[in-house]
Amino acid sequence: MARPRVLSLALVVAAAGAVAAQTRPAFDLLVGGGTVVDGSGGPGVRADVGVRDGRIAAVGRLTGATAHAVIDASGLVVAPGFIDVHTHADDIADTPRAENFVRMGVTTVVAGNCGTSALDIGEELSRIKQVGVSVNFATLVGHNTVREAVLGRADRPPDAVELSKMKGLVWKAMADGAVGFSTGLQYVPGAYADIVEIISLARVAADVGGLYATHLRNEGTRIGEAVDEAIRVGAAAGCPVEISHLKIDSPSRWGQAGKVLAQIDAARTSGVDVEADEYAYTAGSSGLGIRFPDWALEGGRDQVRARLDDPATWARIQAEMKQTLAERGFDDLSFAVVASYSPDPSLDGLSMKQVAARIEGSPSLDAQLEAARAMMREGGASMVYHLMSDDDVARFMRHPEVAIASDASVLTSGEGMPHPRGYGNNARVLGLFVRERHVLTLEDAVRKMTSLPARHFKFADRGLVKPGYAADLTIFDPARVADTATYTAPHAYPVGIPFVIVNGVVVVSHGEHTGARPGQVLGISGEWTRHDR
Ligand SMILES: [Zn+2]
Repeated sequence: MARPRVLSLALVVAAAGAVAAQTRPAFDLLVGGGTVVDGSGGPGVRADVGVRDGRIAAVGRLTGATAHAVIDASGLVVAPGFIDVHTHADDIADTPRAENFVRMGVTTVVAGNCGTSALDIGEELSRIKQVGVSVNFATLVGHNTVREAVLGRADRPPDAVELSKMKGLVWKAMADGAVGFSTGLQYVPGAYADIVEIISLARVAADVGGLYATHLRNEGTRIGEAVDEAIRVGAAAGCPVEISHLKIDSPSRWGQAGKVLAQIDAARTSGVDVEADEYAYTAGSSGLGIRFPDWALEGGRDQVRARLDDPATWARIQAEMKQTLAERGFDDLSFAVVASYSPDPSLDGLSMKQVAARIEGSPSLDAQLEAARAMMREGGASMVYHLMSDDDVARFMRHPEVAIASDASVLTSGEGMPHPRGYGNNARVLGLFVRERHVLTLEDAVRKMTSLPARHFKFADRGLVKPGYAADLTIFDPARVADTATYTAPHAYPVGIPFVIVNGVVVVSHGEHTGARPGQVLGISGEWTRHDR
């Protein structure tokens, strides 16, 4: 577009008449002429949005109003900034521009998911405030982090003293500003915990208004039991449950999304507030270790190595891995692609079948398992796993309580071969799932990225374009918005999202990051901390 969309004060004043030049303009920023899709799910309306002091001051026809700056949003949708409640942006202070998030329209991230967070949340949040980041930030406190701090990687229940230490750590984290408690029950050491331990800890968070977010213990062959466990935690702890990255991860169970949703609906009817989030891809991403039996990963790296090196133990591990693959409907590990393997980055982007051919001289399943063993000996790898069906992804997406969230980390352009969701998730929903496939309406897609996650996480003044709400706005072209990141070339920003505004400050202008870092640390129930810069 040749015409500049951000106009200076002088131009606006000239247009509005010289009278206004003597007084403070009505708005710091005026977003004019766009279609406001306000995040409620209601139909879009032509309206201008006036922003003052970081808040939305007016929505409606504001013709002639003065403003320090104006964005011409004609032909564009003006939506609330996207709220990504499932991220691993824990190290945002090291990459404070968070460009992969903000360029896809995300203005708020929630970290601390899948059981892994900072241990000292107070220290983490003060560092973020001190550094200044481009998006709003909130965090959960992670079960694996807390358990490891008290029990190490031991495969046993805590004794009474250990449990009270863990509860103390969760309490401290909540007092320091965490918004809830998360588990990662497919990961060591979280996988070693029983439901009694999880309820005890979730209750500590629930007592001060926090929610329970869970990476389920199983997402395929035993997903029914795993969802039931999550529901029971919510019922016993008395808090909402957010099922993280809802998916069916086993071909032998594909087509069962409806069954899982029925289970969630039944729990909701019985009074347990079960919600979920999902990303818009048929591949997941996690560590290589998730393919190994939990018991094989107990203890430190030396103990893991000793098991891998002992022929009898390795034979047992291998047999269990083969059995699990067969139950889940996989012939081999060709669905597993290396995202980042620091000991040998030349493997990044290769499937385990290709890795086996390269380093073991054979693409057979046995060679793939040997390659996985060799990589685990070196500490494992970050992986992309192609394990979902399109139909299940779309079926989950249509459910009214399923929000859109990326599961991504703060990424650095060019580093490794990460899952493309970290660059494209929201744009992919708006382009592929709304415009091309008609899985969702535009209004519903925006709701699932804004007011729905805001409600799940109790961000009371975010997620709507409404006077009094924080001025987080994402302005996109509904005809053009699209993801461009792919599995083989993931470091690519989406197109069609020209402006992103965080707390009234323009962070993306004409599709480029402005360098602004107006993000705030968010807490439960609209308590919000304006940082001191
Ligand atoms: Zn997870």
